[in-house]
Amino acid sequence: MDTVKRGEPLLAVLERAGMPRDEATRALLASDAIDARKIRAGTTVTSTISADSGAAEVVLQLAIDRLVRFTRTASATWAGKEERLPWSTDTVVVGGTVTSTLTAAIASGAEAFPSNVRSEVAYALADILEYRVDLSRDLRTGDSIKVLIERQRASNGAVRAGEVIAARLTIDGRPVETMRFAQGTKVAYYDGDGKSMRAAFLRAPLAFRRISSVFGLRRHPILGTVRAHQGMDYAAPRGTPVRALGDGTVIFAGWKGGYGRVLEIRHRNGFVTRYGHLNGFASGIRRGTSVSIARTVAYVGTTGLSTAPHLHFEVLVGGKHRDPRVALRNVTGEPLAAGLRSTFIQLKTRLFSRLDATPTPAKVAGVAVANPNGD
Ligand SMILES: [Zn+2]
Repeated sequence: MDTVKRGEPLLAVLERAGMPRDEATRALLASDAIDARKIRAGTTVTSTISADSGAAEVVLQLAIDRLVRFTRTASATWAGKEERLPWSTDTVVVGGTVTSTLTAAIASGAEAFPSNVRSEVAYALADILEYRVDLSRDLRTGDSIKVLIERQRASNGAVRAGEVIAARLTIDGRPVETMRFAQGTKVAYYDGDGKSMRAAFLRAPLAFRRISSVFGLRRHPILGTVRAHQGMDYAAPRGTPVRALGDGTVIFAGWKGGYGRVLEIRHRNGFVTRYGHLNGFASGIRRGTSVSIARTVAYVGTTGLSTAPHLHFEVLVGGKHRDPRVALRNVTGEPLAAGLRSTFIQLKTRLFSRLDATPTPAKVAGVAVANPNGD
């Protein structure tokens, strides 16, 4: 097996795989369906060329479901064509009791998805829930997750995750339900009460997929209690994008003592969000800038009273510090139109009975929940 090097012409790759140069040239000219520009560095090349039998094949694996196959025909000329593997879709239920990370909880459906796909499932779920739950902080040992999700399989054994269809998380005894619902061509996620999963505020200033890689880093990045701690800390690599928690206006972008480089955004209803220890601000971010929800406004750093890269995050309401979990608890999305309710409830009954019919898988061994102290 070989791989395509950076900037390497396809002709050179084929030659190295054992095709005579003139044959490779002709094969490429005859196969105008093959776009050499799509052959990226790192593409694997497998070559089976036997001098005696005449059987010969060179395969470039473009993607998990796409390949280019060059074969030598009976007349000893080479020809290539691009092939797409068909995917078949079924639905599976994954999940379990949380003993460590979200991804580990999803591993309870271990036979359903390979480990690299499980983290994709976790990210997809976190994206759907990001206006309701801060999955990096809110999950605790003993909470549970069940996800009804599409699974796609190709004939070569490749598996990938499709759309999340429905999910139920039980966090601290409270169920959080979500399901996919289509209105004509518009598909969106709703909670169990038929309210949109989108809302005026995100629940976390960092995207789950950006910080789950530091799940292991559980020590508080500030040694001891340097000062009264009135916010939440998110350990994350330097440069991790920081998102505006909601629509608003920048009221401060600069240096402020122990906070180091800090950003403050004023939102509606007297809400102010504060982001500290920043490495820097996103371009265009200054006092007076209007920002929309989820826009990248700054980058994680370790400026001010900080010993390691992390984001210090505060929510203030009417000038007073509030626990974001409490302050945002009742911020939910718009309800479905009344005319759609009966259709919604029928679908909900069907999807959640499917979810409930599958027994909760056994506990998964693991380390501890990320940031268990919620400090
Ligand atoms: Zn802090």
